Amino acid sequence: MASDNTVRVRVAPSPTGLLHVGVTRTAIFNWLLARHCGGRFILRIEDTDQTRCRPEYQQNILEALRWLGLDWDEGPEADGPHGPYVQSQRVQLYREHARSLLESGHAYYCYCSPERLADMRRRQEQEQRGEALGYDRLCRHLSAEERAQKEAEGIAPTIRFAVPLSGTTDFRDIIVGRMMVDGTTVEGVARHTSFENASLDDFVILKSDGFPTYHLASVVDDHLMAMTHVLRAQEWISSTPRHVLLYAAFGWEPPAFGHLPMVLGTDRAKLSKRHGATAVTAYRDQGYLPHAMFNFLALLGWAPGDDREVMTRDELIEAFSIDGIGKAPSIFDITKLDWMNGHYIRSCDRERFTELALPYLIEAGLVGADPGCAERDQIGRVLALAQERVKVLSELPRLTEFFFRAEPKYDPAAVKKWLTKDYVPSALTDLATRFEAAQPFDAANTERAVRGLADQLEMKPAALIHPTRVAVTGRTTGPGLFETLEVLGKERCLKRLRKAVALAAESQNIE
Ligand code: GLU
Repeated sequence: MASDNTVRVRVAPSPTGLLHVGVTRTAIFNWLLARHCGGRFILRIEDTDQTRCRPEYQQNILEALRWLGLDWDEGPEADGPHGPYVQSQRVQLYREHARSLLESGHAYYCYCSPERLADMRRRQEQEQRGEALGYDRLCRHLSAEERAQKEAEGIAPTIRFAVPLSGTTDFRDIIVGRMMVDGTTVEGVARHTSFENASLDDFVILKSDGFPTYHLASVVDDHLMAMTHVLRAQEWISSTPRHVLLYAAFGWEPPAFGHLPMVLGTDRAKLSKRHGATAVTAYRDQGYLPHAMFNFLALLGWAPGDDREVMTRDELIEAFSIDGIGKAPSIFDITKLDWMNGHYIRSCDRERFTELALPYLIEAGLVGADPGCAERDQIGRVLALAQERVKVLSELPRLTEFFFRAEPKYDPAAVKKWLTKDYVPSALTDLATRFEAAQPFDAANTERAVRGLADQLEMKPAALIHPTRVAVTGRTTGPGLFETLEVLGKERCLKRLRKAVALAAESQNIE
């Protein structure tokens, strides 16, 4: 497979919402396959449902794919070499193909009104105990006169595909087929999926507004774009027999189909907004790094065959194969994504991390829009402290605000817990004296000062460390105390210790 540069694959999102992590997983698998084989990866925007598609969602798709580094290889001439293909710009093509199916007798005009179809469905649901059978084929059997009559009435027809009335439709599924439906279940032996034609209704291929349905547009494009593999989410599997019938009616060879395992939430229900964000750009905005997201999604339903999890883009490309795609549903586990993101955050060097983190600090109003060199260097030092502990970049303002504000925001619970103790005002006053003498004022010397004072007062260092942390940061948790003191610098630490002594005295009076 590695040298099969004839591989041509695509992702075909519909711009009806922000790009979903599930569709992004599909994009990643296809992209990895193309890059592994030296083949081509195509992006096709499926925007033929004019009622639901929006240009801003199309923008979001492009933005999200670019953010993840999923570059596509082709597009229509007019848009330059990098497309993407957009179906609403190809409507003429689908109309011509629908017409050719009319001519070959594989499709027919349907004049049924939406009201009649709704009535029919209601009746079927009543008779079939809640299950509609689909279109009753009324118009399939119209005589030439009846058709002329409808046309004279000026009814805009749809075009329906005439599904064979008997027989079965089979297709090879390179993933799901390994466990399939027709009874033959041995992996690698039978990869066939079989559907009774009688269970399929005569689906619409061209709507009365002249726009194609998903089925027609998808098949025409997959053929014209010479797709070798169609790897898509499992929810599309019920469409595939219809597509196979369309390929046969056109006299075309279908591509290999592979339906990817479902993506579920941790409760094993289909991933939805209930589980948290589903849009890729929402994860970007929360401060997940593109490669963490990429790596995490690549492992949703695919594994390299060993126990590697953290993998570079090149390693993923190298290891990717269709055989590594599983059949079982995969779980979108945010704690794993957090872990992976933390890993990638820690592996950034200081300059890169500052670059990633700055927008979050600017947005929170903690630093100005364009910090100069010296300030940036200081910010880098603060961020380095937080880098060890953050899981997502959006936690950074909360973790580092004590540094940027003139005075920390004192958390009342932290004050109550640590600053109201009897020994605290005098201990912090003594500590300030020791800090004043510390030369240089660095982590080692501040640690020596704190431990020295604890010895002298015959208390555990922790009994001093906690109030000191509350004094300089306002909170009970945060980056390492001594490094924090060093980065804050002597002046600010002394000021905050004094402030804390006042606060402590005040709260003791209140008590
Ligand atoms: N437009 C469909 C989607 O939004 C594409 C399905 C397919 O890949 O054929 O996922």
